[in-house]
Amino acid sequence: MGYPVVLTCDRTMASEYHGLMFLGFSACIPYGTIPDWIYYPLFCPSAPVRKDGSLVYANCGMRRIESALLSCGFSPEDIIVAHPDHLDKVVDSSTRILSVSSNDPLGIGPATTTFGDLWGGEARMAQKLRELLHHKAVLRHKPVIFLGGPGAWQVAENPDKRKELGIDCVVVGEGDVTAPKLFRSVLDGKREEIPEIVYGDVAPVEKISAIAGGTIIGLIEVTRGCARSCAFCAPSVRKVRSLPMKMILDDVRVNIEAGNDGVILHGEDMLLYQSDGLSINSDAVTNLIREVYSVPGVKFIGISHVSLSSIVSSPQTIKKMAEILELGTPRHPVNYYQVGIETGSPALIGKLMKGKVYPFKPEEWPDVVREGFRISHENHFVCCATIILGLPGETPEDVKITTELVRSLHPYQSVIIPLFFTPMQTTRLQDQKPFTKKDLTPLHDDLLAACWEHNAKWFPELWKYYGRNENIVLRKSVDFFLKHGIPFFLKRIRKDAAKRK
Ligand code: SF4
Repeated sequence: MGYPVVLTCDRTMASEYHGLMFLGFSACIPYGTIPDWIYYPLFCPSAPVRKDGSLVYANCGMRRIESALLSCGFSPEDIIVAHPDHLDKVVDSSTRILSVSSNDPLGIGPATTTFGDLWGGEARMAQKLRELLHHKAVLRHKPVIFLGGPGAWQVAENPDKRKELGIDCVVVGEGDVTAPKLFRSVLDGKREEIPEIVYGDVAPVEKISAIAGGTIIGLIEVTRGCARSCAFCAPSVRKVRSLPMKMILDDVRVNIEAGNDGVILHGEDMLLYQSDGLSINSDAVTNLIREVYSVPGVKFIGISHVSLSSIVSSPQTIKKMAEILELGTPRHPVNYYQVGIETGSPALIGKLMKGKVYPFKPEEWPDVVREGFRISHENHFVCCATIILGLPGETPEDVKITTELVRSLHPYQSVIIPLFFTPMQTTRLQDQKPFTKKDLTPLHDDLLAACWEHNAKWFPELWKYYGRNENIVLRKSVDFFLKHGIPFFLKRIRKDAAKRK
């Protein structure tokens, strides 16, 4: 049976990743590097699907669009959040709209570009998106195709790709207010009025609706936007909003009813929940964690992102969070969050990311990073950090300082992923030159090696915690991958570096 409105995503986003959100980054490994028969069972098993082709758990962005449509009067019978492998069940002649969410539609996001450049091969998510949009049911019934999600900027600026993929309209930014208006126009027969690119209105909190179904690993929003305004980052153009406690708790309960046994609280800096500007409202943050953790059925809470400056400006908040979440106990040995180091250079930080350091000064940044890692480590949080190579204006001295900083983080349980600078549309650095493999210097090689030596130590240690509840096949396979894969990767970096020297 077909539906007038079908919401879906590419296959790399339709997975619970064995409950380990960071496995989702495996989609950035180029197609061909790992065969599908290993990749899908090991890193990206299919999310559960109902008989009608609907996803039991879908990404939070799709769930928000679904709830926005429902709150604007669309009938639940007309909408399905569908599994991408089941389009033949849900797309037919009655289908007017196919709305696709994508994190990285052309595979040119920072992580994918870095791995693709180092290893070669097409990005897996780009390949899966093409397959989805060229599905026989889509080609036959020709619904209006919308593309949104965090990676929408990539196709907005590429008319040839839009044409090749058959995308009618790209929605860049938020869809809560904009998508229902666009979809209504299509259903009212005004297809020709739909522009090729739409910049979505920033939704006021009262226009954001509680989700109506489970999300991938229970990921739900607690804040939107970021006021730190790093020059390379898309959220810097967004207004910061904290969602009301009632909506957050409703979203938690929906997830528990859908079968999840915990949630991940998502925000660009979760520690800024209910903050006034960039000062931490410690009571609001700890109260949020306490309330969510006390919802019946919640066995764990993950945290998506925090900033190192927030950790250091309020170590007592981290301590209280660790106490509430019972970290350091056999039940919850560790928890993790993503943080951005980006560079160790105070000069680059001052030029491109002053807000990231607030309330500290750019010259204090290396100490803020070390202190943030120390506080996290002592409170059983694992920092999953990113470094950016080739930021505009980077000097050899900047690279050296960053390498020294990475080496000084060795004692703290953490992972550090080095990425190549990629200019993203809608950011202040959108016209700058991307960094590629051919721009690597011996100093960059040292930095890459420092990051992967760090990971070679900590990945296997951390997998002991994260993998302990997984089935034996997955546990052993990932053990094998970590034991042999990272040293192999490190060897390859050293070999390439030797050639460059
Ligand atoms: S702190 Fe993070 S989310 Fe905020 S603007 Fe900087 S990079 Fe983006």
